[in-house]
Amino acid sequence: MVVRVCVNGIGTIGKRVAHAVKLQDDMKLAAISTTSASYTLRTLLEPEGPLYGTDLWCSVPEKLKAMRDAGMYVNGTLEELLASGKIDIVVDCTPEGIGAQNKIMYQKYGVKAIFQGGEKANVGEMTFNSFVNYQEALGKNYVRVPSCNTTSLIRTLNVLDKLAGIESVFATIIRRASDPADTEKTIMNTIEPTTTVPSHHGPDVQTVLKHINIKTMAFKVPTTLAHVHAVNAKVKGQVKKDELEEAFVKNTRIILVSADQGYKNTATVIERFRDLCRPRNDMPEVAVWKETIAVDGSNVYWSHMVHQESIVIPENIDCIRAMCNLEKDGWSSIKKTNKSLGIS
Ligand code: NAD
Repeated sequence: MVVRVCVNGIGTIGKRVAHAVKLQDDMKLAAISTTSASYTLRTLLEPEGPLYGTDLWCSVPEKLKAMRDAGMYVNGTLEELLASGKIDIVVDCTPEGIGAQNKIMYQKYGVKAIFQGGEKANVGEMTFNSFVNYQEALGKNYVRVPSCNTTSLIRTLNVLDKLAGIESVFATIIRRASDPADTEKTIMNTIEPTTTVPSHHGPDVQTVLKHINIKTMAFKVPTTLAHVHAVNAKVKGQVKKDELEEAFVKNTRIILVSADQGYKNTATVIERFRDLCRPRNDMPEVAVWKETIAVDGSNVYWSHMVHQESIVIPENIDCIRAMCNLEKDGWSSIKKTNKSLGIS
């Protein structure tokens, strides 16, 4: 069985999800849908672009004419596509809040849907993480994949929790102001605290790791490359620094980077992925700075880096597999996705 996927909303996340779907052998990128003939869309659909040949649809009927007038070949509206019965699942990558509105349309045509972290947790039947609750997502119709920051915390804390049992967590999140191409949101020469204390990230982690007592505070800083987290977890049991290092690496989708080897900051880590010729210098792995892992009695510390544009892509692919019953076993899906995206 090959599952027919439509990606709705072709921005930072949507274009990557669409490209990743194309790399799988058990799913087909049947369509993409969006609202404007942006420069990105044009590039993606060029003969040398990664989405060349993909059927294009318009998500909002009122925007159809403008897209066609701008010279795009648009098949029709997203609603017409869903009504045709040619789509099994939509990955909704629209801006915050729009996914919840779209859910009504997906339900009307009995099409499954994945929502992103900008939506409230109750948009789906559950919030997904490949390592924590893959089995629970089997056959589900509406599921949310949490945000980049939340995904990084879930991946790393889940490893520590299995090793030593987590009592509580406090994490400080230093957030990139905007994605590199999002010139409207970029800030300069300022640092902005998130004034909701604790920030929403802790409760979001608890939508997946329900038993973990976690609080977070966040700050926006003038950079576009990545987020950085400083984590302090208190554990119930005992753990040694080298045990945690080994467990992080074994988990996959977490890598260790060494400041001593020159990877001192977000820029040098991103440069590594440029040098490795990863598409768009994407790093779906959480990068933990090896030297920052420290254990002091029951206190465990580390800092990690999150490439916000790509970290959630593998989880979206695994989520499609689980919801469409393509793979019953989470680890088999993780391996398949990792291989297709070049994650070792
Ligand atoms: P984006 O703004 O880069 O892309 C959204 C795309 O959707 C744009 O191309 C826009 O033209 C299109 N769009 C707008 N209205 C639409 C509509 N009604 N129907 C269809 N398409 C529409 O946004 P993004 O950064 O890719 O974020 C998408 C989702 O992913 C959000 O929920 C966000 O919170 C989440 N997310 C973002 C990041 C990140 O760092 N960018 C990381 C993880 C999760």
